[in-house]
Amino acid sequence: MRVHHLNCISSCPLGGRLMDGRTPSVLTRGELSCHCLLIETAQTLVLVDTGFGLRDVADPRSRLSRFFLALLDPDLRAEMTAARQIEKLGFRTSDVRHIVLTHLDFDHAGGLDDFPDATVHMLRQERDHALAQKTWLDRQRFRPQQWSSRARWKTYDPRAGEGWYGFECVRDIPGLPPEILFVPLPGHTFGHAGIAIDTAQGWLLQAGDAYFHHREMDAREPWCTPGLRLYQTMMEKDRGARLANQARLRRLCHDEGAHVTVFCAHDPVEFEHLSRRALHVPASGAASADPASVTGRPR
Ligand SMILES: [Zn+2]
Repeated sequence: MRVHHLNCISSCPLGGRLMDGRTPSVLTRGELSCHCLLIETAQTLVLVDTGFGLRDVADPRSRLSRFFLALLDPDLRAEMTAARQIEKLGFRTSDVRHIVLTHLDFDHAGGLDDFPDATVHMLRQERDHALAQKTWLDRQRFRPQQWSSRARWKTYDPRAGEGWYGFECVRDIPGLPPEILFVPLPGHTFGHAGIAIDTAQGWLLQAGDAYFHHREMDAREPWCTPGLRLYQTMMEKDRGARLANQARLRRLCHDEGAHVTVFCAHDPVEFEHLSRRALHVPASGAASADPASVTGRPR
């Protein structure tokens, strides 16, 4: 099983340094990743999250909310979509038969439309809450305009008794190899999940938006930029669950760091550490790093 790290279109939030902690100024826009994974299994290609897609690039205003377009001004370049990066790696988009979603926010689900042959897997709660479109913010974040794949959605509930390093999980997802599991991490949204992947070099956990800054996983002195702290508070659906899951993930990083590599969707430092590529550079066969050579957490 081979794993490629893809940044499927950066978001460029207002607040610059207050958000990403590394842009020189607070007056220019920052840059956050949208960290997706392409997994080559024996039978098929599996995509974990999809970032923004080709239709978002072509016509952002018909697909994305004005509010988030103004706030995040995504770097809408077609070459950074999952579809184009997968083609650049030498595959066809029709080779992607399964997509596993951490959640349905617009910056994770935008690429779904680009993979008409894929079954889309997510937790049931995520689908139900996104479809309900209950609040103004829900209608800005969950965008039915991005859901032409709806008939191919498959949903799951965590089963009691299934466990992964002390977390609940969903195993044996139909069509997927047993090495890929859901690890429910509610809080950011009600049906939010991390995706755990058992590789020859140990486990990867794509923790989605369970946290936003790599230093939130620092066991001794957890820290987050003020801008991302505010953003997470604005977006959270269940604050207690979100903070409890962050604490559990922190413990996981501390106790099992040798066996489990945890990373989130939007931290550029984690993305560059794991992909060994600058944020704005699309994947290519030649540049993909040997995952065994990447160790430890970025600081
Ligand atoms: Zn996100």
